[in-house]
Amino acid sequence: MNRYKNIVVAVDFSKASQQIIEKAIAVSERNQAKLHLIHTVDIILPVMDYDPSMIVYNLPIDNQEFIDASNKQLAKLEKQFDHIEMTTKTLEGDASDEIINYANEIQADLIVIGSHGQSGIALLLGSTANSVLHHAKCDVLAVRIKEE
Ligand code: AMP
Repeated sequence: MNRYKNIVVAVDFSKASQQIIEKAIAVSERNQAKLHLIHTVDIILPVMDYDPSMIVYNLPIDNQEFIDASNKQLAKLEKQFDHIEMTTKTLEGDASDEIINYANEIQADLIVIGSHGQSGIALLLGSTANSVLHHAKCDVLAVRIKEE
């Protein structure tokens, strides 16, 4: 059987991220694969009261604060697992689209995600996980999150 070479690990920084990373590390060690840890920051649109007399041409969208926070969290995880070689990246946009696009870009052969994230209900597949499973071109490992 072909071994995996490039593994994308998608984390939402919920508690379950530890379980997902640990599972990804186990698979990467067996396959001598490279790990790519990613988080997606969704684009935040400013919420404002609707005023029909006001025409807004350009809404400034500044995600920098969220990107910085994500980079910080990723750096923390990189430090925690410093015996493992991994790259980290913050992406911007819809989580499932970005996970899939990034996997295509780096020619990943496996995506590791949680079966559900912070928004999910135990036993159900979360919406990000569901979309990635349906649209990814490579294998997807959905780690069953154990509730503590
Ligand atoms: P969900 O479908 O939102 O319940 O999340 C399922 C899994 O998708 C999570 O356990 C993560 O592995 C991944 N995921 C969800 N949101 C993000 C995000 N913003 N960035 C990266 N991965 C995510």
